[in-house]
Amino acid sequence: MIEVSHIEKRFGDNVVLKDVSVTLAEGTVTTLVGPSGGGKSTLLRCINLLEVPTAGTIRIGDKSLAFQPGRKVGWDAIQPLRRQTGMVFQNFQLFPHQTALENVMEGLVTVLKWPKEKARAHALELLQKVGMAHKADAWPATLSGGQQQRVAIARALAPSPRVLLCDEPTSALDPELAEEVVEVLSRLAREGTTMIMATHDLRLASRVADQVLFLDGGLIVEHGAPSHIFQAPEQERTKKFIASLN
Ligand code: ATP
Ligand code: MG
Repeated sequence: MIEVSHIEKRFGDNVVLKDVSVTLAEGTVTTLVGPSGGGKSTLLRCINLLEVPTAGTIRIGDKSLAFQPGRKVGWDAIQPLRRQTGMVFQNFQLFPHQTALENVMEGLVTVLKWPKEKARAHALELLQKVGMAHKADAWPATLSGGQQQRVAIARALAPSPRVLLCDEPTSALDPELAEEVVEVLSRLAREGTTMIMATHDLRLASRVADQVLFLDGGLIVEHGAPSHIFQAPEQERTKKFIASLN
């Protein structure tokens, strides 16, 4: 179970997340949709603690951390929770001076201190899973965007996180390359990977999601099954947003 409770995030006077609470069951996929600036990326970055929330609690499995205004949270407290998450970014962010295989091995060797051979075998399995084993020795710059993103997904999955966080994983890609990535993410979803994904791609959102959160102005305005949010939204703001996309 993953529980985000009453999360608030401020940047100075700007309250970017206002009392956001969401619960995800293991093995389910949640997509975050909503207008630009609504807080989707900030919520993902708070869940993996790239940003420290100003208030609220995050619980992932048996690890949890509470945040209070003015109380600094140390690296030692953050690290165990962050390790429960893997993050995939819009612009892939592979290490440019490492091969695809080395990118996937990196965290296993340097952070988790796995022996190199064990890390290599696990990384190859993951590259296989995302259809990239044949490019194990390729440099990121020689790969297409879709291929780079698939390597980035393998890298995020390498330490076996409890939840995979994806921030607009297909929006830097042409439709054809986006489809490769969507297929990988759909397969992971079917296999029971717990995921939270921010996306502007409603086709992707409705294809993989068990639940959809509509985030606007730092608030979850409405949440529910894809059929509810996309076909029969109840809140005016959700209706307007969905209508604007059609
Ligand atoms: P998009 O759909 O464009 O990706 P989003 O829903 O992901 O938008 P966020 O990137 O989370 O939105 O931004 C929410 C708000 O938080 C915006 O007003 C943004 O300017 C503000 N914000 C985000 N990061 C920071 C930061 N590091 N410092 C100050 N303000 C920030
Ligand atoms: Mg964003």
